[in-house]
Amino acid sequence: MTARLIDGVKLAASIREEVAQRAAALTAKGIQPGLAVIVVGSDPASQVYVRNKVAACEKAGLHSVLEAYPATMTQEALLDRVRALNADPKIHGILVQLPLPAHIDSHLVIETIAAAKDVDGFHVSNAGLLMTGKPLFRPCTPYGVMKMLESEHVEIRGAVAVIIGASNIVGKPMVMLLQSAGATVTICNSKTRDLGWHTRHADIVVVATGKPRMIDGSMIKPGAVVIDVGINRLPDGKLCGDVDFESAKEVASAITPVPGGVGPMTIAMLLVNTIEAAERAYAAK
Ligand code: NDP
Repeated sequence: MTARLIDGVKLAASIREEVAQRAAALTAKGIQPGLAVIVVGSDPASQVYVRNKVAACEKAGLHSVLEAYPATMTQEALLDRVRALNADPKIHGILVQLPLPAHIDSHLVIETIAAAKDVDGFHVSNAGLLMTGKPLFRPCTPYGVMKMLESEHVEIRGAVAVIIGASNIVGKPMVMLLQSAGATVTICNSKTRDLGWHTRHADIVVVATGKPRMIDGSMIKPGAVVIDVGINRLPDGKLCGDVDFESAKEVASAITPVPGGVGPMTIAMLLVNTIEAAERAYAAK
């Protein structure tokens, strides 16, 4: 069997088009949705991510502000910038690109972002709302994965889903979204014994470990849907996922590529979250 390719580029483009229409409608009412992106330091991957996020905003007609600071920025100065953006009525979403330099407490920075502007969905209030089934913002990457499964008409209700990777930004919120949609979910981490035993029982496998090609076709149940969140830069400069695409695609029924899978969806869902924040701000006026 050769799996169907789940095209994140195409799906993200259609979501961004819908965002552009909602942005135009809001702008006509006098509120242009606005996103502020802060990056601290010169991590090359972070620089690329923030540039892509800001470019996507501009293309969709959102107001965007990119604030780039040197790695020497103090924690207090960063918190001051976040507080200023919290109070700025032109800004509806605030994103602080992670990772931050080691001398800055990322948790404190995220907690300082106003929960209503936390378009990444990482604030503890938003994590709690997601946990209790009343999400305000769904974290962008797992939200994008859900949209991909929806667009492929994957039956989630009653499905066995296995998530590999338990980070706060991908794995844990992915559990909440899949289980809210009716899946029976297992989440694995680096201490999980016999990972393949878990993955071979799964109808849906979501991999987010940052370990290149660690899941291969022998670990996939025939006909499963495989979502590869990983983005790894190989020594030759090429990108690859956490799934061994070549062997997995021979076993899965549908699979996301890297690049061109989950990555573009993450940016599209950031725009959706920003629009939703702006629409709520308009409704509250
Ligand atoms: P983290 O490093 O925060 O978390 C990795 C998780 O994977 C941890 O829970 C870790 O377990 C687990 N893990 C590591 N090795 C193994 C292993 N051998 N077996 C099972 N579990 C393992 O990563 P992130 O969640 O931030 O990112 C994961 C990947 O997704 C990266 O490649 C990142 O670049 C990519 N990513 C892609 C995005 C996109 O838009 N496509 C967005 C965000 C991330 P433990 O808890 O035990 O340490």
